[in-house]
Amino acid sequence: MKTLPHVVIIGGGFAGLAAVQALAKAPVRVTLLDRRNHHLFQPLLHGVALAELSPAEVAYPIRSVLSKQANATVLLAEARAVDAENKKIALGDGSELSYDYLIVAAGACTKFLSDDWAKYSVGLKDLDDAVEIRRRVLLAFEEAERETEDLERREALLTFVVVGGGATGVEVAGSLAELSRYVLAHDFRNIDPESARIVLVHGGERILMEYPPEQSAIAQGYLEKLGVEVRTGTRVNELNAQGVKLGADAFLPSATIIACAGVRPTPVIDTLDAPKDKGGRVLVSADLSVPGHPEIFVVGDASSFLHQGGQPLPGLAPVAKQQGLSAAANIVASLYGRQRSNFHYKHRGSLITIGRSKAVANFGWLRLKGFTAWLAWLFIHVCFLIGFRNRFVVTFLWFWSYITRQRGSRLITGQRMNAGPLQKGSTQ
Ligand SMILES: Cc1cc2nc3c(=O)[nH]c(=O)nc-3n(C[C@H](O)[C@H](O)[C@H](O)COP(=O)(O)OP(=O)(O)OC[C@H]3O[C@@H](n4cnc5c(N)ncnc54)[C@H](O)[C@@H]3O)c2cc1C
Repeated sequence: MKTLPHVVIIGGGFAGLAAVQALAKAPVRVTLLDRRNHHLFQPLLHGVALAELSPAEVAYPIRSVLSKQANATVLLAEARAVDAENKKIALGDGSELSYDYLIVAAGACTKFLSDDWAKYSVGLKDLDDAVEIRRRVLLAFEEAERETEDLERREALLTFVVVGGGATGVEVAGSLAELSRYVLAHDFRNIDPESARIVLVHGGERILMEYPPEQSAIAQGYLEKLGVEVRTGTRVNELNAQGVKLGADAFLPSATIIACAGVRPTPVIDTLDAPKDKGGRVLVSADLSVPGHPEIFVVGDASSFLHQGGQPLPGLAPVAKQQGLSAAANIVASLYGRQRSNFHYKHRGSLITIGRSKAVANFGWLRLKGFTAWLAWLFIHVCFLIGFRNRFVVTFLWFWSYITRQRGSRLITGQRMNAGPLQKGSTQ
């Protein structure tokens, strides 16, 4: 009996999952590899980092999502290298997997500018990062409460620097401000959490460059109303265990530095023999395949698609999803000897939330702000979450926190230690 063509998909994120599901009825065997056992809904990750949501509310087991898809097998495994000549993938445990078609949907990871950035700051790309941010932030307040002698150290503990004024940095800064101004406001005896300093540093001339200038200004206004210091046109020139040096300013002591700027494709992309842009993403052909390898597709955050307007498409979930669907459709087209289609991204809008009840939304034909935009943000994000339980719980928790200003996930867990001034005596 003739075996069906084997399609291997690396990554069960937005792009990979969309591709597997689109192949449900195709005459192929599909193997989805992911180094994590869950699909992560990254747009709500800041909620985990700032104690609004628990990890399980923004993630869902991949095996469960695909349990009814008979032609799909899920493997918990890390792809280490792609051998395009021999159509094989080397896995983390030393074994190999052969493919007839390959879709690389391995996403991106935080790009730290130097070893110091990796050591002293924390990024926000996965659940481990989110739990680590939550740990560092909550621990900083706890340590400050106990610091009654060294007031400089206490100030450093209550100073939080968020680097990057893109969507993630803005959402993190807004949520952090809400946490300190409202959620923790009455829980301490020796410190006033409301006095916490939250500094959002952005190298560009305005935050949220992808939005129209008026909407950037509105978002900045919301942040400032929450007490966030927005420093545009400013770069972090240096950082160490004690804090950061911003532009030409004096050194700013800070225990918690959150890096929300800069991403790079996950390392397996480096092993793929393909043209790349300066950010390391694969420059794909118009049908999303790798030039010279029509059997390999690269989609989502790992790819650079220049065939629509000449600029790479943004790293957004809808881009990844649509590319996953398109790559799957092109594999089916090849199987039936039909011509492949060129990818075309349909942008339906951008939304970003700032704190508990404010947002800005840009649908092109309609721009929203304030509470209406926040309702739209909540509705759209909840709709795209996987799992009825998650949708229900997230909606409930957000409304609960809206009414009570409480956050139920204020847990300090994890072992990763910050080398910053959380340790007594290290501010010297
Ligand atoms: C904090 C944050 C907030 C965001 N907010 C928004 C938003 O509001 N709206 C929006 O549209 N977009 C948002 N994004 C961007 C969006 O999440 C990404 O564009 C999208 O996830 C990209 O999808 P992907 O499938 O390419 O990669 P991912 O969703 O990152 O999936 C990649 C998968 O590959 C797996 N993987 C990686 N390397 C390997 C390997 N070597 N072997 C096996 N498995 C591997 C990973 O475990 C992961 O499951 C946000 C991103 C972040 C980090």
